[in-house]
Amino acid sequence: MLVRRALSCSPIHAFEQISMPELPEVESTRRSLLPLLGGRVVFVDLRRSDIVEGSHTPAALLSGSSILALHRRGKQLAIEGTRGVVLVHLGMTGQLEYSAPDSHEQQTHDRHTHAIWSLKLANPPGLDGVLWFRDPRRFGGLWTFASMNEVHERWSALGPDALTISGKNLARAIAENRRAIKAALLDQGVLAGVGNIYADEALFRAGIRPGKIAARISRVHSERLANAIREVLGESIQSGGSTLRDYRNAAGQAGSFQSRHRVYGRGGEACVVCGTRLTQTTIAQRTTVFCRCCQH
Ligand SMILES: [Zn+2]
Repeated sequence: MLVRRALSCSPIHAFEQISMPELPEVESTRRSLLPLLGGRVVFVDLRRSDIVEGSHTPAALLSGSSILALHRRGKQLAIEGTRGVVLVHLGMTGQLEYSAPDSHEQQTHDRHTHAIWSLKLANPPGLDGVLWFRDPRRFGGLWTFASMNEVHERWSALGPDALTISGKNLARAIAENRRAIKAALLDQGVLAGVGNIYADEALFRAGIRPGKIAARISRVHSERLANAIREVLGESIQSGGSTLRDYRNAAGQAGSFQSRHRVYGRGGEACVVCGTRLTQTTIAQRTTVFCRCCQH
């Protein structure tokens, strides 16, 4: 995957300064794109072909397609058209933004805007709209597929979606995993959608230490952790996601869940539950914050 490749050659300290969009941010983007449903793509302007994996003909990039559906699995978003599917990975700084044509003039001259779709909307009929993909760091990208069947095949490598994970399915996913639970949660093949922010937040809410070996987590604690994952992701989606620096939804709006983070980014500060100084460490090469008192 493009992101994995990018991470392997990127210094960790540089990487840590920017949080990546996780499931709530991608889902917020998906929801903010719903006005495009039923609209028709009349023109695609691809500025950089190296951001596309697969065919980059105009038709593969949905030119001439009507938008049928917007799907998400983990952190990936699929725009399904009548003539194909474009899968979007936001990477670190990727953004899909949508607006009326008059306000997209500035994007035309922006060197970080890599693809622009011009659309005729279905509702209200005939109104013009413009969708663009912008990604300054280019760790995200677009993948083109002939159908959703091909996308589902690709998605079969991902673990279950974190937004609907059950205790039973989480227990099954981590049963043989000898790594730290935090590392297991970050592995998209184990669970799709959780990154650094929500792994720390969910483990705090579940009272589980991030360094605990995943396979040693009891069934009861798996249930508690699955509940905490669904809860924290759901609350974040309600707040439009977390914006630490770059993230905006497709309407250009920032999220507000960052103000409700209990541990992420709070190393050395007081635990909101017991007042103990929060411990900051590194697990799976990621900054990890937890409470020694509340998490076991
Ligand atoms: Zn505490």
